[in-house]
Amino acid sequence: MKKAGILGGGQLGRMLLQSAANYPVETFVMENDLNCPAAHLCHHFTKGDITSFDDVYNFGKGLDVLTIEIESVNEDALEKLEAEGVKIYPKPAALRIIKNKILQKQFYKTNEVPTSDFIITQNAAELGANASFLPAVHKLATGGYDGRGVQVIKKAEDVALGFNAPSVLEKMVHIKKEIAIMIAVSPKGETAIYPPVDMVFDPKLNLLCYQISPADIPEKVFWKAEAIALRVVKELKSPGIFAVELFVDIDDNVLVNETAPRVHNSGHHTIEGNYSSQFDMLWRVLLDYPLGNTDPILPAAIVNLLGSEGFNGPALYEGLNEILTMDNVFVHLYGKTHTKPGRKMGHITILSSEKQELLHKANQILHTLLVKSG
Ligand code: ADP
Repeated sequence: MKKAGILGGGQLGRMLLQSAANYPVETFVMENDLNCPAAHLCHHFTKGDITSFDDVYNFGKGLDVLTIEIESVNEDALEKLEAEGVKIYPKPAALRIIKNKILQKQFYKTNEVPTSDFIITQNAAELGANASFLPAVHKLATGGYDGRGVQVIKKAEDVALGFNAPSVLEKMVHIKKEIAIMIAVSPKGETAIYPPVDMVFDPKLNLLCYQISPADIPEKVFWKAEAIALRVVKELKSPGIFAVELFVDIDDNVLVNETAPRVHNSGHHTIEGNYSSQFDMLWRVLLDYPLGNTDPILPAAIVNLLGSEGFNGPALYEGLNEILTMDNVFVHLYGKTHTKPGRKMGHITILSSEKQELLHKANQILHTLLVKSG
């Protein structure tokens, strides 16, 4: 049986392990927190720091294949492991590009992948000197996550909001829609592409609020988005699963925002909504089996279950009974015992052939199911 390791033990690792049960594989997880969502679902848990060279190297030695559920891992250790014969999907070279927003934007430019114009700023002074580029979005090169490390700067008086560290200053896109496309790449270079999803964000928390798949976009936009997403993964030259996040602007131009080299929130609906889920698909890649069928079974919506404002402590799920009586509604809790405002505690998938029903149920769930603390 192959030995497969996952760096990071959050909810993505947890859902990946739920799919691992269908395959002949011995699973290993490394994470600092003994009570992380994935800790109790793997065969072997190692407490360790995924950013530490020694911890990652020692964890990966002797494994057949290693993947990640978060980008902030020590890629030097991954490179050494790869040189010693451990399969690392995504490849460390692709991960290095994606981890750094400066390298990622330069990668798009070099490979003629449409993306918003940008300049690189090393510090606050350089940002101040480029006020003519505003309005723009300032993004920290490294260390940002889920909206932290991203700052909108509309006018010269606001430059103090920017970062005094290496960053990308991106032209503000007049966004009509944000969509995402998941693509799997096998070790042989075959690809399997999922239908695009519409992502709707919570403007306050900058977190995904709900999403609908397939996205409601004109055919022309669909073809552009697919071609662009395929180009991104082709140029990254790495097996794995990738989420390509795209902007559709008011003129129907399609621009890449960013790419995640791993299973992703925008693919959670695939657990019930598609024949092969993103988690099932990643096991096929990791274990070098044929890729799965990405076709949708039914259109799907996802609601993120976030910790309610004003509650910080042991999690209580209000409204769960009502949600569990709803047809074609699937609850996924991430096993986090402690809630805090905006924390991702779970997600709910809704299936229906009627878009109106998806939206109606999504709104109902957003208002009924709340994570509080007693
Ligand atoms: P993170 O990696 O933290 O998720 P993103 O780079 O995806 O950050 O940016 C977060 C959000 O900010 C995007 O989903 C989008 O709504 C907005 N945003 C990012 N870049 C731009 C841009 N160039 N123009 C307009 N809005 C943007």
